[in-house]
Amino acid sequence: MELVTITERASLVDPAGRATEQLIEHRTDPLTGQVASVNTALGEKARVFLGVADLALLDELQEKSRAGCPFCGAAEKGTRYQPDFAPEGQLRFGGALAMPNLFSKCASDSVVVLDVAGHVLRPSQVGAPALGNGIRAAAELVRRARAADPRHRHHLVGMNFLPPAGSSVPHPHFQVHVRGLPYSGVARLLEASAAWRRRTGGDFWTALVESERATGARYLGRDGPVEWLAAFAPSHQREIWGLVPGVGSLTELDDAGVEGLAAGLTRVLSYYEEIGAHAFNFAFLSSPEPGRGGEYALQVRTCSRPPLKNLYVNYETWFGPMFGGDDVHTEAPEAYAARLRARW
Ligand SMILES: [Zn+2]
Repeated sequence: MELVTITERASLVDPAGRATEQLIEHRTDPLTGQVASVNTALGEKARVFLGVADLALLDELQEKSRAGCPFCGAAEKGTRYQPDFAPEGQLRFGGALAMPNLFSKCASDSVVVLDVAGHVLRPSQVGAPALGNGIRAAAELVRRARAADPRHRHHLVGMNFLPPAGSSVPHPHFQVHVRGLPYSGVARLLEASAAWRRRTGGDFWTALVESERATGARYLGRDGPVEWLAAFAPSHQREIWGLVPGVGSLTELDDAGVEGLAAGLTRVLSYYEEIGAHAFNFAFLSSPEPGRGGEYALQVRTCSRPPLKNLYVNYETWFGPMFGGDDVHTEAPEAYAARLRARW
């Protein structure tokens, strides 16, 4: 696997009148062609400028949002499915509860409250059992939506955590979207994976894991069948991938896969908390069709978001990634991978 890096030099005269030079590394994703730029010269300055989460504010939000939280009271006051979708109205998976999203974005839009009793705003407190229940609930919701209408097979499952990550209700929850037309990002990934197979005869994701395990700099470890690594050319900040080679869709995931994804996610989210970036997003990118495991790997992609504090800077939603498609990073993936690896 060829991982292409091009280095550019920027030279300038700093405010003290000294000529300085910075190295910018441009990396290209081997499958999609997406470019990520890394300039570590500004790393320390960025940390000072952006700061870390205001923990007192986080605790205050946790307590204030508990009173009247629609998800703590979901069993009594939440929405209900139509009887033909779920006769029991809501679905339970251990402490998790699934119900229709009050504001639908597609034909089948659910909220999965990961632990109704767990109104917690520290990522490390969400816990692997709750994440596992959420994944099981999501897979079942995708199966039911498809059974109700075979056209509804395209799905996107993910999590926004805290306001800087786009979350309006802080109680930890997944959103499970199922609709009749493809998600464009998932479709591009599936097509690129299929094209790789046609070109090489092999599975890109298996090759990627083998290559990353061999070089080691971005490889983190494995949980059962799930392989974890830092993305070589990340689209988002501190982007980590959990890959399930040989399994294409959430609906094909077995218990070991569920537990492996939940265990690894807990490690990654706890690391984000450790560095003061509590807000995060992740999404499971899953094939709409079963049986694609030979050329596509079900995967979860995570990223950290700006730390929760007053007047935080939404620094990674600037015009580059929003309209140009490529982001810039002040820390190399190998650097955070080295620290995160200690959690495996
Ligand atoms: Zn709550």
